[in-house]
Amino acid sequence: MAVTRTFSIIKPDATRRNLTGAVTKMLEEAGLRVVASKRIHMTREQAEGFYAVHKERPFYGELCDFMTSGPVVVQVLEGEDAVKRNRDVMGATNPADAAEGTIRKTFAESIEANTVHGSDSEENAKIEIDYFFDKDEIVG
Ligand code: ADP
Ligand code: MG
Repeated sequence: MAVTRTFSIIKPDATRRNLTGAVTKMLEEAGLRVVASKRIHMTREQAEGFYAVHKERPFYGELCDFMTSGPVVVQVLEGEDAVKRNRDVMGATNPADAAEGTIRKTFAESIEANTVHGSDSEENAKIEIDYFFDKDEIVG
């Protein structure tokens, strides 16, 4: 399996509860390496652009409110089959459906405040990494 990269966000519900380290530890224990990381407070424009694929969904406005409600930590993760590996350790979108031992089962507050974002395909990973990081900010 090839070593690839994916994009992750530790969401405001997690930074508010001081869980940046705990979440990152679970990512690392799942075989992912943090090759870029920064704590930012997303602007409304950044959040709306990032979630533009969800524009027609009923929760879009609230999701953008939530993602700009506090700081987030954006990360590039590297590992074998990184996109799937990250999705597996994240768990299902709704924590009520997430498997034991996943980040969302362990920490998520709700289907919206669900602690982490992870890219859903290699193609989207590249787009999302480029959305938040310059090349020289990623050190593998
Ligand atoms: P995932 O983050 O698992 O890829 P989606 O891409 O479907 O899930 O949704 C993006 C984000 O939108 C979710 O992580 C969650 O924060 C929020 N969200 C998804 N579904 C709902 C919902 N039914 N109500 C409120 N927020 C939601
Ligand atoms: Mg998604």
